[in-house]
Amino acid sequence: MTYDFDLFVIGGGSAGVRCARIAAGHGARVGVAEERFWGGTCVNIGCVPKKLMVMAAEYGAAIHDARGFGWDVADGAHDWQRLIANKDAEISRLNAIYKRLLDGAGARIFEARAIFLDAHTLDVGGMRITAERIVIATGGHPTRPAFSGGGHCIISDDAFYLPERPRRVVLLGGGYIAVEFAGIFAGLGSEVDLVFRQKLPLRGFDEDLRAGLVEALTASGVRVHAGVSPTSVEALGGIKQVHLTNGEVLPADLVFAALGRAPNVSSLHLERAGVATGKTGAVLVDGQGRTSAESIYAIGDVTDRLNLTPVATAEGHALADALFGPGPREWALDRVATAVFSSPPLATVGLTEHQAARRGPADIYVSRFTPMRHALSGRSRKTLMKLVVDQATQKIVGAHMLGEDAPEIMQGLSIAMNCGATKADFDRTVGIHPTAAEEFVTMRTRTRVADAPPETDATPLVGPVEIGAAEMGVGD
Ligand SMILES: Cc1cc2nc3c(=O)[nH]c(=O)nc-3n(C[C@H](O)[C@H](O)[C@H](O)COP(=O)(O)OP(=O)(O)OC[C@H]3O[C@@H](n4cnc5c(N)ncnc54)[C@H](O)[C@@H]3O)c2cc1C
Repeated sequence: MTYDFDLFVIGGGSAGVRCARIAAGHGARVGVAEERFWGGTCVNIGCVPKKLMVMAAEYGAAIHDARGFGWDVADGAHDWQRLIANKDAEISRLNAIYKRLLDGAGARIFEARAIFLDAHTLDVGGMRITAERIVIATGGHPTRPAFSGGGHCIISDDAFYLPERPRRVVLLGGGYIAVEFAGIFAGLGSEVDLVFRQKLPLRGFDEDLRAGLVEALTASGVRVHAGVSPTSVEALGGIKQVHLTNGEVLPADLVFAALGRAPNVSSLHLERAGVATGKTGAVLVDGQGRTSAESIYAIGDVTDRLNLTPVATAEGHALADALFGPGPREWALDRVATAVFSSPPLATVGLTEHQAARRGPADIYVSRFTPMRHALSGRSRKTLMKLVVDQATQKIVGAHMLGEDAPEIMQGLSIAMNCGATKADFDRTVGIHPTAAEEFVTMRTRTRVADAPPETDATPLVGPVEIGAAEMGVGD
């Protein structure tokens, strides 16, 4: 049987574009369908616009901080419309680049929705197309809240296109999108209430970071409501009222629900192709991205594993190489560094203290210090750094940081950890002075031994801590 394509990719996001581009580069006849925007979530309504907005908020703080350094500057007004227009122009530029990359690699582009007719046949915008292999790379979407009045809430997709900045925002959720937008809106001058069900935000992250982030959010003026959930939202004219389980009612101009995401599968007709999904709707795959149907693969957020752009692109690249290239490409997916662009940001790689303790005794090194910038800025803000070391092997199994530049620093540490670096390797590394990063190679005194994780996941562990020498010009 001859097919129209060797490979057809459904979805032009991070995973799909990379897979289609690399497969076409290996000489395969590739088609790719995108129904909405090239580059997918990351470029249009995710990482990229989010980070631009985080930067916008940081400029506000930097203007304020500059006074301590002698600058005679006054807080100015922020032009929300200009920010959104400039952001949109940059996103359009990136959309065009993604499309050009596919074109340049020789993939055939379809700007349409693709749905399955059978395991080798798709309907792509009304055209019947056959392919020897099909890749599902349709990503995910934010879920709408199910409580009464949930329709009055916006979701993250909407947050990038608001006509004006709301004066009072209630953010629902304790995940990374909620805390990032808390920083964005607070930094641009909105009053922010952050409501989440757990005792600390960012479930799954190291507890010292989680507790440190709550402290930082509170110091920046965000009102944190931990351990409560919304029961309903009422709209009274332009004002919304958010009712909480503890009886409190929060007024808001905007209610932003960041309560979770779900895989994009509902319109695909997967049953026609024999593709199995799990409880959350995610397409079930093995380690090579193979689904329950022999000719069909799935990559990226639609499989709901590690929902991050670099993971999606790595999976797309690995699949294209495995099918048409030199063979499978290896990625260290067990130790993926990740960041939260909160204010301040945090970043992490490897095991949390509790995860490490469950495997055996771990040496914990914690350092908390005032970064040099804030010695003069007058802003009360601490940087927190932490190393988790497996006691038996002395390998660094976890590195965590809350503070400016944490994501930039963590990328380098993740390379060291993927090379199997030990605490002794860190200790013999000479630091760069004066930086915050040097603290990671000058933490000499063990803070504590972790050997039995506490029952609850929400106990802050900060302290006792070393007073970090880094950046303060003290040396060690
Ligand atoms: C607000 C936000 C912030 C984020 N920030 C970060 C971050 O800082 N760092 C990070 O690493 N990750 C971040 N992420 C996650 C990241 O965006 C995703 O992990 C990544 O985009 C997943 O890529 P994907 O290709 O699997 O899916 P997507 O990028 O979602 O691409 C899927 C594409 O498929 C298309 N599609 C769906 N169904 C069909 C169909 N039937 N036919 C044709 N096309 C279809 C969609 O329109 C979409 O363009 C963020 C996500 C959000 C929502």
